[in-house]
Amino acid sequence: MENKFIKIKETLLNEEEKTIVWANVQNSFENFFGSEVYSSWLKNITLLEEYNDYLVLGVPTRFFRDWIVSRYLDKILPQLKTFKNSINRVEFKISGERTINSGETFNVDDFNKVTEIKDSILNYNRLNPNLNFDNFVAGSSNEISLSSSKKVCEQISRYNPLYIYGGVGLGKTHLLNAIGLELEKKTNVMFISAERFMYHFIKSIKKNDMVNFKDFFRKSSVFIIDDIQFIRGKEGLQEEFFHTFNSLIDKNSQIVISADRAPLKLDRVQERIKSRLAGGLVVDIDIPDLDLKIKIIKKRLEDIQNQFKESSNISEEVINFVATESKTNIRELIGVLNRVVTFSRIHKKILTINDCKNILKDVFNQEKIITVDKIQNIVANFFNIPLVEMLSQRRSRPLARPRQIAMYLAKKMTTRSLPEIGRRFANRDHTTVIHAVKTITRLSEKDDEMKKNIEKLRNLLLEE
Ligand code: ADP
Ligand code: MG
Repeated sequence: MENKFIKIKETLLNEEEKTIVWANVQNSFENFFGSEVYSSWLKNITLLEEYNDYLVLGVPTRFFRDWIVSRYLDKILPQLKTFKNSINRVEFKISGERTINSGETFNVDDFNKVTEIKDSILNYNRLNPNLNFDNFVAGSSNEISLSSSKKVCEQISRYNPLYIYGGVGLGKTHLLNAIGLELEKKTNVMFISAERFMYHFIKSIKKNDMVNFKDFFRKSSVFIIDDIQFIRGKEGLQEEFFHTFNSLIDKNSQIVISADRAPLKLDRVQERIKSRLAGGLVVDIDIPDLDLKIKIIKKRLEDIQNQFKESSNISEEVINFVATESKTNIRELIGVLNRVVTFSRIHKKILTINDCKNILKDVFNQEKIITVDKIQNIVANFFNIPLVEMLSQRRSRPLARPRQIAMYLAKKMTTRSLPEIGRRFANRDHTTVIHAVKTITRLSEKDDEMKKNIEKLRNLLLEE
């Protein structure tokens, strides 16, 4: 009986029953993830089959699949649900795969579609004209980074490399972009994220076109690379980066780098690279103080006023409230401010602090930090097993299930990557984590008890 039920559920839908227009989904991916991630990875996904509750998606290679699954899948699903709420999982198929000598696989169509590196990079090398020095607000947390960035623009290769580091949303990309805009006026500038650099690196290997790749990156006079921490643990990429770096320095090109941490703190990066990165000028951006937050808010309000030609209804009191409550970073601060302004414009209302509290309820409540440690403790407690046992290599069911549940929750409730989660579970491989996530996802769809337990654990974690 149950089998039959599953059969019916899994029937491939007829053309007229299908509801998903893939182009629309892709649009939403692009909006949600940004054009960089979209065109590097998600654009390559095709819709192969549509079922009532799941989709079969095509990806060009295994590499793509693993990459997408480990980094974006948990955000792709909710996006898909907005198009069809009954979707609760996706399957990936590697489409048009064929084997080449090295045993690696790649997709024939993909291969033919690859444009010259040059063209595709030029498309991505576009600087954002809105992220310039004029609209970067100075404060005590960023003034050294700002003045160093300006100095680099005055005299190329005096500080080489310039290395700017700091937490997310504090203005690193903005500064890098501003440097690019400034120097673009006098010389040729290459601006790329480390992730995008890797993407081209891999494409070039597959295309057997490393010569072009090397040439292309080594000829810029100003090479700006964002989020270099991305190279951690990626040996091949580090090797390539090291040589690119050296040949640029040799010809006196300016290098500007951003990262989320200081050079010497880049674990799983070769020592020789770390010392090169630390060898120029290293500056950091700190969390903004109240004064800077207020200045940024006022500047944004001014811009909005100019844009919409109407005065904003945001009182000093509300400005202070937003600046005080938003503690994490400037990106969040701007997001919060946008919500408040939008609300006030739609309702044509001068907001009170209470209105703001209501509008921002979910934003400020999200601040609860859930760590892998916490998840492990709570799950072990919940199932009444010792934590060490849960993390041990023993495979008996009473230990293995809770372990899988903890991995699943770590994936769903923290921003840790699969390999990072694996390491926290007594150095397990990321494939073990993928397996755990799949198993628990599947079980919680079928098994009511599992579903309830997951729900309870989630609540416990959020309550803490
Ligand atoms: P990061 O690269 O460090 O994660 P971003 O450069 O993307 O951060 O900055 C996040 C957002 O905050 C962007 O919209 C950026 O324009 C804005 N921002 C950051 N710092 C400032 C600043 N000092 N003045 C104005 N806007 C800022
Ligand atoms: Mg950034």
